[in-house]
Amino acid sequence: MAEEFTEEIEVPVRENEDGAEIRDTDIVFDCPHCGKSLVIDYRGAGLQINCSECGESVLVPIPDGMELNDLDLDSGEILKQLFATRRNFQKSELEIQSLKARLVQLQEALGVMQEVVAEGLAGS
Ligand SMILES: [Zn+2]
Repeated sequence: MAEEFTEEIEVPVRENEDGAEIRDTDIVFDCPHCGKSLVIDYRGAGLQINCSECGESVLVPIPDGMELNDLDLDSGEILKQLFATRRNFQKSELEIQSLKARLVQLQEALGVMQEVVAEGLAGS
């Protein structure tokens, strides 16, 4: 079942040259390796692509104000994100439980210390 979600989304990257057609939904960014101005469809946001100029792998920036949720991802991609979110949530739950257990231990230790201090004061 997991194999269904490994499908790569194919989003073509173009060079931002004079006369290049850029739509409102396109992301324009510079290759961090060679500085070439590149244009990619908004669905490429957050994806690893190869620069059409130098061939280096480039992470497409996610534009300000754009949420990954806004992208019309296919259902497999959405499920993948949902599973990842659930995993993180479960991890957080486990951390909270272990912190609560630690808090109980600290409260017990504090109680013992208070008793020792009270006995010490009474004894002197
Ligand atoms: Zn490049």
